[in-house]
Amino acid sequence: MSSYSSILTYSEDEEIGLELITAAKEISKVFSHQIIAVTINTDPSILATSGCDIVCSVSVGTDPYVSPETAAVVLEQLSKKYNTKMLLIGSTKDGKELAGRLSGMLQIPAATDCYKLYPEDGELRVERMAFGGRVVATASLPKDSYLIALKARSYKKMNEQNKGKIEHIELPLKEQSVKVVNISKQAISALDLTKAEKIVSVGRGLRRKEDLSVIEPLANVLGAAIGCSRPLAADLGWMPEEAHIGLSGIQVKPKLYVAIGISGQLQHMAGVKDAGIIVAINQDKSAPIFSDCDYGIVGDLYQIIPELTKQIEAIKKQSL
Ligand SMILES: Cc1cc2nc3c(=O)[nH]c(=O)nc-3n(C[C@H](O)[C@H](O)[C@H](O)COP(=O)(O)OP(=O)(O)OC[C@H]3O[C@@H](n4cnc5c(N)ncnc54)[C@H](O)[C@@H]3O)c2cc1C
Repeated sequence: MSSYSSILTYSEDEEIGLELITAAKEISKVFSHQIIAVTINTDPSILATSGCDIVCSVSVGTDPYVSPETAAVVLEQLSKKYNTKMLLIGSTKDGKELAGRLSGMLQIPAATDCYKLYPEDGELRVERMAFGGRVVATASLPKDSYLIALKARSYKKMNEQNKGKIEHIELPLKEQSVKVVNISKQAISALDLTKAEKIVSVGRGLRRKEDLSVIEPLANVLGAAIGCSRPLAADLGWMPEEAHIGLSGIQVKPKLYVAIGISGQLQHMAGVKDAGIIVAINQDKSAPIFSDCDYGIVGDLYQIIPELTKQIEAIKKQSL
């Protein structure tokens, strides 16, 4: 084992896994740690070229879906093997469950939903949004004992010439209490949205689930992913839970965000604070969204969206 102390990074999402290595490098610049990126049941080769020292490629069972329960058991064992209690993970839905489990198992402090970290005064500081995005909460954690869950796209991934060493480890998997019996792909994934350059997002202004068919042609013509406000996913179940944007959902950074029938409560707007151009379509001219958008259209979405879609299609045809 190396004499350096190590930071372990892990996310079930490869892109976030790459971003975590960049974040770990920020810490290691000051505290000189080695960075060990962990993969579980996935190809380790991409992580090996992103600036980590070691990729620990773990095989557990044969199931490609690695539950937070399984990941927690693996990371607990790796924490012992590499003698470290410094971990960075992705603040995804599974990542947040993993954070809770691991923090308890390893008895270390955890901070989730962070988007920035930096060493200061011999400690580690993290920043996360609080009070609906109105303030930034800065927390401090001990520099040698922490679990930090970082949100997607908080850091840029790096590509390096020097390859990290790949260590293969097989771990016997104990019987897990949660068994996955089926995985079916959703049409819209949180991943599509966190990476999307354009998002068309729909809110409670929609009357029925079937009316999503009014929104889809606009998203198609713009080449946009579809997101929503919380009530559409969490209360009504018209959209996948991962598609809801905001404080309790995902944070997105598209160049274009079209908010349709969304009032613009601060819990929703907390998720789009880094968006480029915001266009709002709402029939109530006093809706709060009109104070937060770059372009606003006051009117009935059922009239505006089909017309807007037609106009954009026509412009696209002309420019061919
Ligand atoms: C702790 C906490 C966390 C939360 N987290 C989130 C979060 O992450 N994301 C989130 O979105 N919310 C979140 N919320 C809920 C949030 O406070 C709002 O209730 C929610 O954002 C409202 O969703 P909405 O804008 O779709 O609905 P509404 O507020 O009901 O707005 C619907 C809008 O549609 C307009 N409308 C109606 N019919 C039409 C039409 N035909 N054409 C055009 N416009 C029309 C109305 O004028 C209205 O402005 C959270 C709340 C709490 C307490």
